[in-house]
Amino acid sequence: MRRAEPQPTSGWGNNFHSLGNRVSASSIAELQEIVAKNGSSRGLLPVGLHRSYGDSALNSGGTLIDMVALNQIDIDPLRKSAVVGGGVTIAALERAALKHSLFPPVVPGTGFVTMGGAIAAEIHGKSHHKTGSFSQSVRRIVLLLASGEITHLTPADPQFWATVGGLGLTGIILEVEIALRELQSNAVDVTEYRVKNLTSMIDLLIRSDNEFEHTVAWIDLSGDYRGRGVVSLGNYGATPVKIGAKDSKGPSIPSVAGLNFITPLSVKAFNEIWYRKPLKTGPVSLPKYMHPLDGIHNWNRIYGDAGFLQYQFVIDVGQEEIFEKLFAGLRGLKAASFLGVLKKFGAASQAPLSFPRPGWTLTLDYSMSVPGLEKFLREFDQELVSRGGRIYLIKDSRVEAGLLPAMYPELNRWREIRMAMDPNQLWQSDQARRLHLC
Ligand SMILES: Cc1cc2nc3c(=O)[nH]c(=O)nc-3n(C[C@H](O)[C@H](O)[C@H](O)COP(=O)(O)OP(=O)(O)OC[C@H]3O[C@@H](n4cnc5c(N)ncnc54)[C@H](O)[C@@H]3O)c2cc1C
Repeated sequence: MRRAEPQPTSGWGNNFHSLGNRVSASSIAELQEIVAKNGSSRGLLPVGLHRSYGDSALNSGGTLIDMVALNQIDIDPLRKSAVVGGGVTIAALERAALKHSLFPPVVPGTGFVTMGGAIAAEIHGKSHHKTGSFSQSVRRIVLLLASGEITHLTPADPQFWATVGGLGLTGIILEVEIALRELQSNAVDVTEYRVKNLTSMIDLLIRSDNEFEHTVAWIDLSGDYRGRGVVSLGNYGATPVKIGAKDSKGPSIPSVAGLNFITPLSVKAFNEIWYRKPLKTGPVSLPKYMHPLDGIHNWNRIYGDAGFLQYQFVIDVGQEEIFEKLFAGLRGLKAASFLGVLKKFGAASQAPLSFPRPGWTLTLDYSMSVPGLEKFLREFDQELVSRGGRIYLIKDSRVEAGLLPAMYPELNRWREIRMAMDPNQLWQSDQARRLHLC
């Protein structure tokens, strides 16, 4: 077991800094000892690679338990499944599975996410309309409870579903069994289309649902906000391609005196280039297609010291006019998003706090230094709720607690299960205290 001095930690958005103790454990016995000896009223929180954007993986005044050392991977090619430690990354699982022509059915936009983080967020990927979210391929979770006991949970258990999307607040995910899918090659056959506006983008995404396993659109959220962009459609391919460096170790963005390089002008220029870039057709390696930004380490530093906010919400099909309201407001603020992504979700999972459900999900990045952004988003949250929408909590650091029951109608069911699993509130986070989840 290794303890470190309290140090400032932040989520991927660098928009909220917290001072907590940090301890790393490499065995279950060490984790049980940490649980047994906790004396802080601010409790414990298991964490992965801090790829959550806001305050989900922070615990000011409490203790963070670094889980990355629980990294064993055991692939069973006959059963087409993997048993992996809670600290194994998606990228490591992909590499191990590909050796057997297998692949996790649901992967997020970055491979630098641990199994614990993937389940606690109930992540989704470009295949959500076909495969649903991460839990759909999870057969079993081994969980260390606040009592120090170890329990095996399957989808038949309510505690399984409280842990899925449960933001680390039901216990420590020690091990996971995941069903893998068989592939013919290590590539995705990709087709991209340039679209002139949001209507064409929506139309193409709807028409592509049946035919394509992976669908996603990059949307230009700068300038006149017409919603032009590039729609990317893909299916697992049959032609193998060469995969580059082992860990996608590409260039790293230095922190240049904490400066923010994301201005309306720089974003507009970048988006113009991106919109006009040559369109892809043909096989692209799975890691490159699934995790396009992983080649550049610490890309979050481009926003400088102020950090940035990633705002992701879901809204029913038929409620598309909310996009116009959003775009008008952001245009008024002269805000420009470096990364806008539109995706159509499929069916929801059973987890009370799971974010994805049928409809449109839009993701936007904004520098925290945009004047008026917070006020505008507070108003927009209300509009979203009035239309039955909700935001993705794993990316959040700001939403008001009072809006949560409307966004997540099964919140009380989750609270009841969690209270039974952790009556003394051992598991805590800054987000959990802010949103009254603990
Ligand atoms: C570039 C980028 C792209 C992304 N793309 C997507 C995407 O396409 N789809 C998507 O859904 N998300 C996406 N995300 C968000 C990301 O998948 C989640 O934030 C995920 O939870 C991060 O995992 P982590 O291992 O870094 O966990 P952390 O950020 O360290 O922790 C996140 C949560 O998981 C809990 N947790 C971590 N480990 C354990 C454990 N062993 N046991 C119990 N709880 C635990 C923590 O307590 C915390 O509540 C993206 C993030 C980035 C930075």
